[in-house]
Amino acid sequence: MKIVDLLEAASNPLISYEIIPPKRGGSLKDILDIVEGLTEFDPPFIDVTSHAAQAYYEEQSDGSWKRHVKRKRPGTLGICASVKGRFGIEMVPHILCEGFTREETEDALIELAYLDIQNVMALRGDNHGYRKPIRGDRTRNEHAIDLVSQISDMNRGNYLEDMIDAAPTDFCVGVAGYPEKHFEAPNLTWDILNLKRKVDAGAAYVVTQMFFDNRHYFDFVERCRDVGITVPIVPGLKIITSKRQVQSLPRTFHMEIPESLAAEIEAADAQQTADIGIEWATKQAADLLSAGVPYLHFYIMSTSRHVSKVVRDLRKMA
Ligand code: FAD
Repeated sequence: MKIVDLLEAASNPLISYEIIPPKRGGSLKDILDIVEGLTEFDPPFIDVTSHAAQAYYEEQSDGSWKRHVKRKRPGTLGICASVKGRFGIEMVPHILCEGFTREETEDALIELAYLDIQNVMALRGDNHGYRKPIRGDRTRNEHAIDLVSQISDMNRGNYLEDMIDAAPTDFCVGVAGYPEKHFEAPNLTWDILNLKRKVDAGAAYVVTQMFFDNRHYFDFVERCRDVGITVPIVPGLKIITSKRQVQSLPRTFHMEIPESLAAEIEAADAQQTADIGIEWATKQAADLLSAGVPYLHFYIMSTSRHVSKVVRDLRKMA
């Protein structure tokens, strides 16, 4: 089942989720437990994030520094295959430019096609200092649009090397959009035009970065429609569950926390914070649904506990 078909056919709210692989050395069981917790809500699809290798430095006894390169959270493809096999849920692995050559990407996509996983999110990924991108290096995809183009080429049967009778793949590709602008873009118009290029290169739908004020989403969708982006734009939502996130989320994801939400959390204790976060996300989701948005995507990462409360409350309101 292609994600875009699910999104275009959505009439009852279609609520999807995004999870993160465990840290290197962690257990698949943790993931299966999270998915088990979501089965009550019949998830139409679940995304699994991907993580490029990161460079880190360890001080040696002689005062010098040793450079290590490590992927902290490998396993995206295996998790997708395992969850799809056990639960029959459509899985969407995230595929990155960052940290992978085009050959490695092609191999990963061939593997996914064999595993009957036909949906992927194409992302640039963030540079964790693993390598300095070299402009014009054709062995790697620099921007998400280059990755989307590579996948579209494979869908036309064009692999990196000429192969006679190469079987075309059939991937449905999602890409990222930023209602509050990607942090590197000089302005939102510029960023939206780059999003349009990704769609023109073959992306079938967009999932947004998290936002906490629905006005950002509505404005963004309107501006995307104005430049001719017609594909589904799925709002990405996050439930704040700790006081720390009021500062860490904007630092990491480059979006704003509304003043009233930040002030409420500032005055709360730890337990009250999770309740405030759940209440805010429920209201945001309910407002989007009542405005006619038929799909929501929750960044739940490592627990289904808080989102379960939100989705149950939404069902009671329906
Ligand atoms: P791009 O589309 O390449 O855009 C990056 C920047 O470059 C933007 O400012 C854009 O305007 C600009 N740009 C685009 N094309 C060009 C061009 N041709 N020339 C010049 N500038 C250009 N990160 C992970 O590491 N793993 C994940 O699993 C992951 N999942 C995500 C899921 C979602 C829904 C979202 C919203 C983000 C996710 N990210 C993930 C974060 C993402 O990788 C970063 O935000 C990254 O910095 C940008 O990725 P992108 O795919 O939007 O890149």
